[in-house]
Amino acid sequence: MMRKLTADFILNPNGQLLNKHTLVIEDDGKILDLVPSVFDEAEEFKGILSPGFINTHCHLELSHFKNKIHQHTGLDGFINEFVQTRKNAELSDLTSNEEANEYMWKSGIQAVGDICNNASTFVLKNKSAIRYHSFIEIFSMSASDAAITFREGLHLLNQGKASHTNASLVPHAPYSCTTNLFEFIQNFHNATNSKWCIHNQESSSENEMFLNASGKLLKMFSKKGIDMSWLIPSGTTSLQTISKHFPLTSNILLVHNTYTSLTDIQFLKN
Ligand SMILES: [Zn+2]
Repeated sequence: MMRKLTADFILNPNGQLLNKHTLVIEDDGKILDLVPSVFDEAEEFKGILSPGFINTHCHLELSHFKNKIHQHTGLDGFINEFVQTRKNAELSDLTSNEEANEYMWKSGIQAVGDICNNASTFVLKNKSAIRYHSFIEIFSMSASDAAITFREGLHLLNQGKASHTNASLVPHAPYSCTTNLFEFIQNFHNATNSKWCIHNQESSSENEMFLNASGKLLKMFSKKGIDMSWLIPSGTTSLQTISKHFPLTSNILLVHNTYTSLTDIQFLKN
């Protein structure tokens, strides 16, 4: 059986909104044709028919933190409150995860790039209608912990792959991974060529750390008693500093980029 669908507009793969078109699909949703006319027998929809959305960055395992952390406190305030909230909460809440998964599916999201620090979402991903890629995220601000952090990450990666196949190992952020840890991840990626992402330039204080060892973020870490002596300011932005650890051939996904400058982008392109 075939279905013929028409709507006020249909968004085509080239990003054009087309009116007076008909989408011809098989019963299972497979697209057969997009025809530049409206068939009399076509089912009519109000609004825009669009291909499924991709959510490139999600933390499904943190669904139970929804509305629990204050807004507008800056990255240093967020991390501070996040660490406190996580101390007082369960690692994950399967019901909240299921609700978030359902919410995304109903919102038209068909594929998700999801950050994982534990295995609590793997069963759900395996049975979900959404196609997930798990970014197994590791971080450590202690140079001597790099090997063990990497090994734990690999363990979780193997669990993820065994469960729903699509998973890769990634660094958390420029400020939360030591050079040692970056090198472990980098060598692994250059050997396996899997998908790679990192939280990038979310606040100006992230850049300030690398420019001249200043800013609210570094102050917050120091106040918490974290030994940041491994951080040697490079005189340039966080992105440019850590770019030497980017994988050679994998695609990279930079998340946030709120304080990414034109110079950073030109640097990346070069
Ligand atoms: Zn994130």
